[in-house]
Amino acid sequence: LKELCGARLIDGISVASSLKERLRGELLSHLSAGDVARRPTLATLLVGTPHEAVAYERRLRDLTGELGFGHLCASFEEEATEAEVLETLHRLDADESVCGILILKPLPDHIPVERLSEELSPAKDVEGIHPYNAGLLALGRPRYVPSTPKACFLILDDYLKRSGRDPREFYERSHIVVIGRSANVGRAALQLAMRRGATVTSCDVNTYRAGRLREFTGQADVLISAAGVAGLIDESHVKEGVIAIDVGINPVEGPGDKVRLVGDMDTRSVAKKAEAITPVPGGVGPVTDVCLLENVLLAARAT
Ligand code: NAD
Repeated sequence: LKELCGARLIDGISVASSLKERLRGELLSHLSAGDVARRPTLATLLVGTPHEAVAYERRLRDLTGELGFGHLCASFEEEATEAEVLETLHRLDADESVCGILILKPLPDHIPVERLSEELSPAKDVEGIHPYNAGLLALGRPRYVPSTPKACFLILDDYLKRSGRDPREFYERSHIVVIGRSANVGRAALQLAMRRGATVTSCDVNTYRAGRLREFTGQADVLISAAGVAGLIDESHVKEGVIAIDVGINPVEGPGDKVRLVGDMDTRSVAKKAEAITPVPGGVGPVTDVCLLENVLLAARAT
């Protein structure tokens, strides 16, 4: 592993490429056992052209092509009504050639994501946001683990094994602090941390407003940040030896007119104290994309 300011830099691209290799093999054996013409297909639903949703859609199009999954995108104008989007969602849900459906966020304000997610059938909800799937996750027996927290723990498990530790033993004596509480990212990461037997603390914007973020993040053996605030966390927030997983993807200006993406963590600063850290870009993101397709294959196997 490369180092940055004394910390090991966890390479998400390399974790993603071994995962891709395994998934490609699993997809091939799934296809050879069944109908080759029926490739497991992911349908995405895009409303408007928000930058991050469009970029995610493009990455998924490339990745499905690269690995041999099917893919289709239903896109709508920003002004589309909830009824129009729901009609397409129902059509995709009833379409036997579609295994999984992903609703790309953000959606315009007049179409709440909760409303759409409840209309998906749980079997096709590969992002695990339907109340039934979220409930299973909360009970500690998930069917589809949301792809981002799934990627965080895959990266952690992989890193712990590579550094000679037994993940189970490690988690059971560790304190994992998660910043952010959205349904498919922060909250789901908390569920996974609990499922692994860790001691868990959840911080959100209220913790920040109360001026108490450092008090909690400073106790973390593993800090997972999914707040969506550029540079929220620096070395003053963490203790020596923390393993830092940066989920945030935040556009910032510069240099010049360019927009670049940074995480929630000031990577260089946190690296001065961390044992290991994920960079942005090139950390959690690439692994997340593959984890989603793993869920699509899971859905295909169940039909
Ligand atoms: P969200 O806006 O739905 O939720 C953000 C959460 O962070 C909320 O619970 C909020 O209370 C909390 N928060 C906001 N400001 C905070 C602060 N100052 N201090 C502490 N907590 C704060 O966002 P989301 O969909 O969960 O995404 C979070 C971030 O993760 C974004 O930057 C997003 O782009 C990124 N993301 C990355 C991946 C990936 O694969 N790496 C995937 C999904 C989302």
